[in-house]
Amino acid sequence: MKNWSKDSAEGRYWIAGARLVDPVAGTVSEGAIKVEEGMIADIAAKPDGKGKLPVLDAGGLCLAPGLVDMHVHLREPGHEYRETVATGSRAAARGGVTTMTCMPNTNPVIDNAALVRHIREQASRAGLCHVMPIAAITLDLKSKRMSDMGEMLAAGAAAFSDDGRPVTDASLMRHALEMLRTWNALLISHSEDLNLSEGGHMHEGPASTRLGLKGIPREAEDVAVDRDLRLARMTGGRLHIAHVSSGNSVESIRRAKADGVRVTAETAPHYLLLTDEDLYSYDSHKKMNPPLREQSDQDALLAGLLDGTIDCVATDHAPHTEIDKKRELAYAPFGVIGLETSLAAVLTRLVHTGMMELPRAMALVTAKPAEILGLPVGRLEKGCPADLVLFDPEETWTVRGAEMASLSANTAFEGMELKGRVRATLLDGQLVFGRDSDGVETFTSRPWRDELPVI
Ligand SMILES: [Zn+2]
Repeated sequence: MKNWSKDSAEGRYWIAGARLVDPVAGTVSEGAIKVEEGMIADIAAKPDGKGKLPVLDAGGLCLAPGLVDMHVHLREPGHEYRETVATGSRAAARGGVTTMTCMPNTNPVIDNAALVRHIREQASRAGLCHVMPIAAITLDLKSKRMSDMGEMLAAGAAAFSDDGRPVTDASLMRHALEMLRTWNALLISHSEDLNLSEGGHMHEGPASTRLGLKGIPREAEDVAVDRDLRLARMTGGRLHIAHVSSGNSVESIRRAKADGVRVTAETAPHYLLLTDEDLYSYDSHKKMNPPLREQSDQDALLAGLLDGTIDCVATDHAPHTEIDKKRELAYAPFGVIGLETSLAAVLTRLVHTGMMELPRAMALVTAKPAEILGLPVGRLEKGCPADLVLFDPEETWTVRGAEMASLSANTAFEGMELKGRVRATLLDGQLVFGRDSDGVETFTSRPWRDELPVI
């Protein structure tokens, strides 16, 4: 990684000797990339030698578009002891994530244009990751009155969601979908029937019975998904189902897609690597909402990823402090972090098992979420922003929450060995994170100019 920081700061250079992973074309090929003014200016077999530009040696590692994580909780404002926009951006850079959208369930809730702008400003100042806020559908997430979504869209909201809570009023949900349809904007549903899930700590099944803990039936998710699919069909609005964990929900989404409903869906890495039986350890770091479910659900999620029913993988990065999490399972809060493990988790579960080719798996965390959000990133193409991740797909490492750049350490993968590791992250063509072969890590903040997308 020698000279990468200095040379990338020059703004014009080549990266050579890389295995270029193109998630859209579905190819891996040896090649070089020319970066100019923060953009991918050329892709070639090798540097053309014109202009005597510096050449950064990728050393045969994989170069792919930076990850796009469309489900992150940054905890700012209100819970800055768990995470801030700045610390979350560090975690993102370390995880190879170059664009993330953050959820509005902060305190106060991101339900007005001033807060949307505030988050964007904080992110551009932190200078380690592109961050776009997702704004609340209803004021204070109360499901009573709709927020001013048009104003927040103009202020740069990437999408709308009450995530953390469902929109409990179906009529309000209908009107939100109708209103957002007029701007072709995205509504992200946290699908949960609060009456069915109330008081539950983990998935309701044989494992919860054995542990003597009150469960959350998968139907708490399923009936809410079914309701929102009906409303999307009725309104023609664009619906995205967050954190799908239940096999029944996969089936409902599959049928809705076949019927032409405008729906997309995500699942999270923890649902692909763990099941409810992992809670036999009583480990509160494996407690999240929706909960880890049964093997049959995991199988259905994997099948859904393979046939395209589930469009992408997002982390639902939800930081909590050790003090919060170090309680009995029943009292610990829901949520796990994920920004620094998503690439490795996807490679370990989908690629190294032979289930999926590398470019296709990478598309789940790059081109696919970017497409859903309507952002011009997540692609390895001339004219796209040079938001890039360099990684070693073969390096194995053991996950340690204590080593994370995130302010919180509540990873569900603690102690697990994952295969695939980020070596460098470039944002707008500039190195923001580097990890050399001795394991020395450096972060370089590159404050970026925040330009609103054209709506
Ligand atoms: Zn949620």
